[in-house]
Amino acid sequence: MPLVATLGLERVEAWRLGDEAWADLRRRWRSEGLVMSCGQPGGPVELENGTRFFRHFSKCDAHEGGVESPEHLSTKALVAEVAAECGWTAQVEAPSADRSWIADVLLTKPGRKPVAVEVQWASQTPETFAARAKRYRADGVHCVWLVGPKNHGRGDWNIDGDAAALLMETPAEFGGPTSMAPMRGALHALLSGAIRGGVEVLVDAVDVTTAMSKCHNPQCEAWFSYWFIEAVEVRSRCAHTRQVDFAREYPLWVRDRVETVFQSDVRAAFARSGLPSATEYRMTHSKQTNTDYMAQRCPRCFWHLGDGFIAGKPRRWETYTVSVPATALPWQPELTNLHHVCHDVGNGFCKVEPQQRGGAFPARVDADGDPLPALPALRIRQRVVKPPLPQGRQTAHTRSVR
Ligand SMILES: [Zn+2]
Ligand SMILES: [Zn+2]
Ligand SMILES: [Zn+2]
Ligand SMILES: [Zn+2]
Repeated sequence: MPLVATLGLERVEAWRLGDEAWADLRRRWRSEGLVMSCGQPGGPVELENGTRFFRHFSKCDAHEGGVESPEHLSTKALVAEVAAECGWTAQVEAPSADRSWIADVLLTKPGRKPVAVEVQWASQTPETFAARAKRYRADGVHCVWLVGPKNHGRGDWNIDGDAAALLMETPAEFGGPTSMAPMRGALHALLSGAIRGGVEVLVDAVDVTTAMSKCHNPQCEAWFSYWFIEAVEVRSRCAHTRQVDFAREYPLWVRDRVETVFQSDVRAAFARSGLPSATEYRMTHSKQTNTDYMAQRCPRCFWHLGDGFIAGKPRRWETYTVSVPATALPWQPELTNLHHVCHDVGNGFCKVEPQQRGGAFPARVDADGDPLPALPALRIRQRVVKPPLPQGRQTAHTRSVR
């Protein structure tokens, strides 16, 4: 059931024709000949709900993804309509030069790579998705899949509903939930460029969890503050604030600890507060496992204090928020590869450069020191600012047990 045909020498798109032009086509098609986008002769059809398209007189193999449903037709028409509103030139059922593919809707714009929007309601195997995407790639066309419930998760954007009420998945602002929304608005956000594939964030504060203790070195016995960063407060270029949870897991043998990035600011904040001096993070070598790792040491005598075991011990842990100058961190790509609705609040739009190799946060390693995948989606939270570090002299006795 194509939407596009040639009437005589004229290209006609059924969904775009007004009532008069449609009536005119119905008068002329028998005498002038109507050839559809697939090259087969066809005839005009109008459904009760007003959907207009062309039908085959015989079987045709040119249309991938099975028989076209009313949903498929109206989705294609809507994509073309919204794309045109967003400044694209939209062509429905656009064949490649050699007819090796027919894009449901092909979008072009000067200076931009062409985009094929493929609408897939009928079930399609992951292999077929890959094969069809590969053909587009070979021709320098970027392919975007809108996939119905039978293919959810196999494409770029899930769609749902029926021809009368089409729905499409749309992301929220940074950190917000993805939702199913009326397709017109969702397409508008996507095709106008409001949805960005990466979020660019700077850290502007860190949540420091701390407990005071006494140095194990019998020659020292100074009071100091153990500390580690439980979460960082981030602000996106589009001015949304969230919290990235580093969890209290404090894995062992980690080299890229986020504390080293912020320790001069954090330790200066402790020095200004009523709490004892903060420990220092420094690379240490473990003879036992023959690995280098980041450990804490006494700020006064530099006695080695260890790493993860510190946080595992029950102590009077308290969490405070410490402001830091806006700082970019190398993030795990899963954390920044998040579709979101981006706004220009005077700083431009989020732009994420491809990650260089090397340390990235949150860093996790297994017992052998090999990197573990991060769990980023779970780590982005609503921002909850904690109290600042307490002022006035604090001692172990003035503090309550949590
Ligand atoms: Zn056909
Ligand atoms: Zn399709
Ligand atoms: Zn000491
Ligand atoms: Zn943004």
